[in-house]
Amino acid sequence: MIGNIPVGGGAPCSVQSMCSTDTRDVAATLGQIGRLAAAGCEIVRCAVPDMDAALALAAIKAGSPMPLIADIHFDYKLALKALESGVDGLRLNPGNIGEKWKVAEVVKAAAERNVPIRIGVNGGSLEKELLVKYGHPTPEAMVESALGHVRILEDLGYQQIKISIKVSDVLRTLEAYRLLSNAVDYPLHIGVTEAGTIFAGTVKSSVGLGILLNQGIGDTMRVSLTGDPVDEVRVAYDILKSLGLRTRGINFVSCPTCGRCQVNLIPVAEEVERRLAHLDRKLTVAVMGCSVNGPGEAREADFGIAGGRGEGLLFRHGEILRKVPEAELADALVEEVLKNQ
Ligand code: SF4
Repeated sequence: MIGNIPVGGGAPCSVQSMCSTDTRDVAATLGQIGRLAAAGCEIVRCAVPDMDAALALAAIKAGSPMPLIADIHFDYKLALKALESGVDGLRLNPGNIGEKWKVAEVVKAAAERNVPIRIGVNGGSLEKELLVKYGHPTPEAMVESALGHVRILEDLGYQQIKISIKVSDVLRTLEAYRLLSNAVDYPLHIGVTEAGTIFAGTVKSSVGLGILLNQGIGDTMRVSLTGDPVDEVRVAYDILKSLGLRTRGINFVSCPTCGRCQVNLIPVAEEVERRLAHLDRKLTVAVMGCSVNGPGEAREADFGIAGGRGEGLLFRHGEILRKVPEAELADALVEEVLKNQ
């Protein structure tokens, strides 16, 4: 459990993100956490680069509607302070903390509070000896690193562990997680790290995480994007929805348009999707460009429009309701959906 969110053991894959705010700025961080929660984020992580950030965690935890994970590197005192602040999870690599007694202190404090530790191996910060042994951050090197950190915790009698093993390359990510999932039974946090800007990162994450999830690998996930973390949450749910693993929001269908389309469909589709983004219901809404595939899809959907020449047909549960002028298509569809909630 990360707070009240089950991870592993057959629980649905949970959606995480990470604040991009300065953790010491409690107001800005809580503002972002609120927006992440509204988008459906279930677990949030904050970087803890110094003691002021660790001290800010208590107020962030108090104001956060979802479990909070502290992301710690190197300094065991930051981990102890984060635990004192009431965080629900730690992300730290015990092998990077230094002397064994320091790790032991962190593990003792985490055990007292029943707080899991995520070992997060990252291709960009692999141990030097493994880089020498393998030449590069290969999947085998990453797994060996993860198992080394796991052994440190297990030797201290701690098994509340989850593991991530991230590289920015999809194929190595797939291989690393495949090897890791064969080697351990701990829950896995999956992600393609530093995946890129919104467009490229969405594609990389969808391919990488989609394949892993489809193979039954992944208990909690983060989509990493260079952009607003709220978009990470949206993309994560769209990946999970497309695999039938989670439901959130509505199922929105729109055609790509082609030479048959005689209405300006793209802004209509964008407007309808935006105005219905707050709905969380099992509902299909279709925006289609013409009368070839349009009426079929619009009829199959709960609500839909199919474009014609400067106008469109409005459908509800397979029935044509009326013809609507092009300029009013988005309004008519949105109003029809909302009226029937
Ligand atoms: S629904 Fe019509 S406009 Fe849209 S892609 Fe299909 S044929 Fe083209």
